[in-house]
Amino acid sequence: MEITRFAPSPTGHLHLGGARTALFAWLHAKTSKGKFLLRFEDTDNERSKKEYVDSIVSSLSWLGIKPDDDPVYQSKNIELHKKIAFNLLDSGKAYSCDCSSEYLEEVRKKQIQNKLQPKYDGLNRDKNLSHKDGNVIRFKMPQSGSTSFEDKILGTISVNNKELDDFIILRSDSTPTYNFCAAIDDFDMKISTVIRGDDHITNTLKQINILNSINSDIPDYAHLPMVLSSEGKRLSKREGALDINEYKKMGYLQEAMINYLIKLGWTYKDQELFSEQELLEYFKINDVNSSPARFSQDLLNWYNNHYIKSNKINNLLDLIKNTSNINFNPEDNNKYLEIFKLMSEGANTLIELVDSSRFFYILPDYKDVDRSLIEESRDILSNFSSCIDSFSFESHESIETDIKNYIKSNELKFPQLGKPLRIILSGRENAPSISELVYLLGLEETRERIALFI
Ligand code: GLU
Repeated sequence: MEITRFAPSPTGHLHLGGARTALFAWLHAKTSKGKFLLRFEDTDNERSKKEYVDSIVSSLSWLGIKPDDDPVYQSKNIELHKKIAFNLLDSGKAYSCDCSSEYLEEVRKKQIQNKLQPKYDGLNRDKNLSHKDGNVIRFKMPQSGSTSFEDKILGTISVNNKELDDFIILRSDSTPTYNFCAAIDDFDMKISTVIRGDDHITNTLKQINILNSINSDIPDYAHLPMVLSSEGKRLSKREGALDINEYKKMGYLQEAMINYLIKLGWTYKDQELFSEQELLEYFKINDVNSSPARFSQDLLNWYNNHYIKSNKINNLLDLIKNTSNINFNPEDNNKYLEIFKLMSEGANTLIELVDSSRFFYILPDYKDVDRSLIEESRDILSNFSSCIDSFSFESHESIETDIKNYIKSNELKFPQLGKPLRIILSGRENAPSISELVYLLGLEETRERIALFI
C-alpha cells in the first residue's frame, strides 16, 4: 500500500507539469489501494499566497485528483523541523556555524577561480561551536562513500559524497530550509514513494542523507522528466504554461485533460483513450518514459474534440452551462440538443462549440460573405422559398430527400442552390449540410432568412 504526496509551493497556479506530477502520484497510490496526500510547501512567506492554495485546490478538484486527507501545510510543522535540527546538533550530526557572508563569498570566488564546484569549505565542521542566535546550523554530510538511489523511472542515480555540501538546515533567523523541511515532512507523513519533477534530483541526494541521519526508512523515488514545448524548449504561456483552471474556462473537459496529461510520458500498448478504471488498472510508474515529454496543443484538442463528441448530449449541455466563460442561453428551442450534437464534430472546446452554434439562435452578421453568389441565384432562392412548405420537416433525412427531388425536378446543379443557401442560412461558406440547416432552423426561420436577400 503506497503513500504518495503532491507537494506544490503555493507561489503560483497549477500548470500542466505540476498537474501531471499530481496525477501520476495519485495513480501510483490508487493502483496500490494506498493514499495520496497533498502538502503545501508554504514556508516562503513572501511568495506563498492563499489565492494560489485555493487555485491549486480547485484545479485538482476539477481534475478529480482527490487527496485522501486534509492538506498538510509545511509552515505548521516548523516546530518539528526545528526540534529535529537541534537534535541533530546535539548528537553531532549537524553543527553550528558563524561564517560571515563575506567569508563565504570569498571562498566561493576562489573555488570558482580554481574551477571547483562551489560549496561550504567546512571551516566550522569540527569546531563544535556552541550555538547562539545569529548562527546557522549546517548538516554534516558524510565525506566518504556515495549517496545512491534506484529511481523508478531513471534507474540508478549516484553521487560521490565529496561533492555534497554541508548545507544549512536552520538559517540564522531560526527558520528551517526547504530541503530539510521536505525530508522531515516526507518522514512525518510516512511517504513511501516520492514522485516529482527531475529538477529535484539534487534535492533528493540531500534529503536521503537527512533521512539517514534520523534513521528513517528511505522512500522510493520517481523523478518525472520535464514537459517541454513542441519545439523542445521551456513551456511558455502560449504553449502549456497556463493555470489549469484556464483550460476549464476555455471549455476543455476533465476527461480530455486527464487523457492528455497521462500521455505526457506514459503509454500503454498503442491505446489512446483511457477510462479512469483502465488507468487504475494499467498505470505503472516504472513505465513512465525517461526522456522529456513534449506539449502538443493538437493532441489536447484531439482529445477534447473526442470527449465533446462522445459526451451524452445532456451532460454537454450542463457542461456548457457550467463553463463560466460561456454566456449563452439558447432560447426555448427543442432542437438545441441536435444542434450541439451536429456542431460538436468540428469543435475543439465547449466555447468553440457554442460559438459555432450561435448562428442557429442569432441572425448571422453576414459581414464577410460573398453576396454576389446570392445575387446570381436570386430566382432560384425565391422559387425554393416558395416551395419549401411542401417539404417534410420530420427529420433532416426527409428534408434531404425533398431537396434532392426539388433540385432534380428543377434541373439544377446542387451548388447553384446549396452554396448561396448555406451562406444565407448560416452566414458561412462551409460546415453543416443544407438539409441539417433547413431542418434545424425550421420552415419559418429558413424563409425569413431567405427573404432578407431577395
Ligand atoms: N515544492 C516543490 C515544488 O513545488 C516540490 C517538492 C517536492 O515534490 O518534493 O517544486
